[in-house]
Amino acid sequence: MRYVSTRGRAPVVPLSDTLRAGLAPDGGLYVPAELPKLAIERFDDGSDLAGTAERLLEPFFEEDELRSDLRQIVEEAFDFEAPLRALGEQTYVLELFHGPTAAFKDFGARFLAACMVRLRAESERPLTILVATSGDTGAAVAAAFHRKPGIRVVILYPEDRVSPRQAHQLGCFGHNITTLKVRGSFDDCQRLVKQALGDEDLQARVDLSSANSISLGRLLPQMAYYAHAALAVHRSTGKRLNFAIPTGNLGNGLAALLARAVNIPVGRVTLATNANDVLAVWAATDEYSARESVATVANAMDVGAPSNFERLLWLVAINPDARRWIEAVSVDDESIRSTIRRHHNASDEIYCPHTATAVHVHDLLRESGDTEPLAVVSTAHPAKFESIVEPLCGRNVEIPPALAELLARTSSADSLEPSYAALRRRLLEAR
Ligand SMILES: *Cc1c(COP(=O)(O)O)cnc(C)c1O
Repeated sequence: MRYVSTRGRAPVVPLSDTLRAGLAPDGGLYVPAELPKLAIERFDDGSDLAGTAERLLEPFFEEDELRSDLRQIVEEAFDFEAPLRALGEQTYVLELFHGPTAAFKDFGARFLAACMVRLRAESERPLTILVATSGDTGAAVAAAFHRKPGIRVVILYPEDRVSPRQAHQLGCFGHNITTLKVRGSFDDCQRLVKQALGDEDLQARVDLSSANSISLGRLLPQMAYYAHAALAVHRSTGKRLNFAIPTGNLGNGLAALLARAVNIPVGRVTLATNANDVLAVWAATDEYSARESVATVANAMDVGAPSNFERLLWLVAINPDARRWIEAVSVDDESIRSTIRRHHNASDEIYCPHTATAVHVHDLLRESGDTEPLAVVSTAHPAKFESIVEPLCGRNVEIPPALAELLARTSSADSLEPSYAALRRRLLEAR
């Protein structure tokens, strides 16, 4: 399999080169040169999640230097499950928060880490991975690369704009992980990272890379849990499984659409966003205009210009049918809060604010008479967002063991002025 840029002005490359580069040299995003059509029978033996991931990803690794490592890579990355829990006749919750940092980003981050460690094995200089985070990405990347040889991670997060538990998680790793709290906003953090990645003089002295959600090393593995869930439902009912997916940068939602495009029995994909509604507007009108993001209670989805949107347009261009698989709904904070409260009162279920956007979509579909099999995608454990959910539910949320283990460690972060000179100095000092 070969990969091209969404902007069509970059050389055709194998998968490993896209992982090394992140962004394509023409500024576009890497996508497969053509999409395989997989026979469903390929998955007939009903293996575990790692097995499904291997079968699904084989064609994407064809002719790549990592091909012979794929089995080990999926075993390292998918060493926890993504259970599809039945809630009623036709309703399921796909729980993606059973990894080390209790959010779905653990899957992509761990897969990328397993690939990068192998690609760097022969390098003499350490690789520095820079991450700007509004909360969940930084912790998932830190956990995935923690103590990996030849790699260090530098995390930048906006001081005072992440939850106390998120801040604790970000600073609790140590060793090869450096955590910097920036006196500024998430946009400041992102700007500093971009500046470093574009600084040729710095790059000559420090090997730099990033780990954001445009990397195929994060996007491709996310197809696996959709495939695993949809194949299980298809095996028992013969029907396609629809998904409602909490969406920000569109990485997770796009993975579901890609799974459908390669012939997995996924049905309709409803993208659930918070008040940042550019995707809902696009889905309703075909008009797209990026905006400044607004702050919401589902903060990991506060995105005004989804970074994977270019890939959505690519998919619709190569496969016009795809346009009919996609819906999008914007959910405001008031509806997020009332959904959390109502479901807790009715059934004792507690959802994180992001998951609640998809639960709201579920409620709308059922009210409108839809009876098709539907999986609500749960992207984080509610204990990560206790300051929002506990007052709504009037009780404490139990902390899952992996998260409790991180919260029991000591945590520290160094302060960083929001200036590029300060970041540059740090990166050169700690080489
Ligand atoms: C990152 C994140 C999202 C949004 O995922 P995208 O791939 O950016 O659309 C949703 N929920 C949680 C909990 C997240 O951390």
